[in-house]
This record gives sequence, C-alpha cells and structure tokens, in this order.
Amino acid sequence: MILIFLGPPGVGKGTISAKMVERFGVVQISSGDLLRATIQLGYEEGIEAKMYMDRGNLVPDSIVNKMINERIAKPDCKNGFILDGYPRTVKQAIDLEGMGVNVDKVLSFVLDDSELVGRISGRRICKRCGFIYNTRTNPTKEIDVCDNCQGELFLRDDDRPEAVMQRLDVHREKTAKLIEYYGKKKMIATIDASGTSDEVFERCMQTIKEAGYCDCGVTSLTQ
Ligand code: AMP
Repeated sequence: MILIFLGPPGVGKGTISAKMVERFGVVQISSGDLLRATIQLGYEEGIEAKMYMDRGNLVPDSIVNKMINERIAKPDCKNGFILDGYPRTVKQAIDLEGMGVNVDKVLSFVLDDSELVGRISGRRICKRCGFIYNTRTNPTKEIDVCDNCQGELFLRDDDRPEAVMQRLDVHREKTAKLIEYYGKKKMIATIDASGTSDEVFERCMQTIKEAGYCDCGVTSLTQ
C-alpha cells in the first residue's frame, strides 16, 4: 500500500508517519528529511536546496524528483511506503505517476493556522536520532535533551518565524491545488489534526480501515 500524507507545515505529518513506522514497520519517505540529509552530507544539490528551504520556498522539482525516484527504487520500498511532504504540487503528483507509482490513498491533514504556528515554533528535533518533540505539547524531561538518546535538540532554520509564514503561503497557493487534484480522483480523505498525536493516529487508522485497507492490508506492508 502506498499512502501520501498532505498538509501544511506543523500539522504533524512527520509525527504520524513515525507512529505508522513504529506500529507497522512501513517505510516513511519524507522529502524534507531527504533534503536535510543531502544538505548535511554537503552535496552540491543540498547547497542549492538550502537556499530555497531557508526562505520557506519549494526546492526545484529537478532536485526533489530525482531524490524521490532514487529512494522509492530501494528494496525496502517494494511492499509500500508513506510519502510525507511529497508531492507538494500538481506537477509533482503527475511526475510521481510518471515514476510508475500507484497511490492507494491520500490523507490530507487539516488544522487552524494559529495552532500550526504554535506547533511549529515549539518544534524541537533531536540532532542524533531525529525524534520530534514540542516544547508545549510534547516536551522533553530535561530542556533541549532528547529523552531517547540524550542527543541535543535543535530548531530547524525554516521553523523560524520569518520562514514559517512564507511556508504557509506556499502551502496555500500550491498544495491546496493538489488537494483538489486528488479530490477529483476520489483518492483523498481529510484528517482532523487537532488533539494529541495518539488521537490523530487513531483517526488515520479509522480512515484507512474505512477505505478498505483493514489492519491486514496495513500489516502486509511489513511482509
Ligand atoms: P518539510 O520538512 O516537509 O516541512 O519540508 C521542509 C522544506 O523542504 C520545505 O519548506 C521545502 O523548502 C522543502 N521541500 C520538502 N518537500 C518538498 C517538495 N516535495 N517539493 C519542494 N520542496 C520541498
């Protein structure tokens, strides 16, 4: 089964994907994480991508599509995966179809802007294991120290207020059209992203079951 997680920055796509990974052993493919890894490794493409990311703009398709195409070709993806943050535009959705990917369901996460901004400004990520915390809703026991691995936490450059408003604007302008695109194909389900991550996760599970992908369908991803 192949799922797409759509939604504005801060809506919790990464957190819910991580829960799916933990529960079902599925593969999560986050375009944002792939880009950040490319930057950390010092690749030329990463240096170019960072200029766009720091300003809250979308990275050119040539970079993102290549990265996704290479990732989904890896053997661990053969039983299915969750695309988190890709596609972000109708053009990318069409490019994804061109890669031969048949998407089963698109989950569109929705939340008020004011709540999104609050979540983003509180987001802290472990440098070592990548676990996502939130200073308000999911704080660490010790300030800025990861509960899992004692790694140091950091605030993403593009989670700073100046980039956040731009990212929300980009989402409204580009990604909203994508919702319409998948809506016409009757592939989309809307998920209320308010409340705790456990509540949102349960809503996702319910939607997946209602769509005919019962637990066994999801579990088959791990086989
Ligand atoms: P995310 O981690 O999903 O919030 O993505 C962080 C940033 O990476 C975005 O604001 C974009 O600059 C870039 N990015 C992530 N995914 C894509 C994509 N599918 N297309 C273009 N840029 C992307």
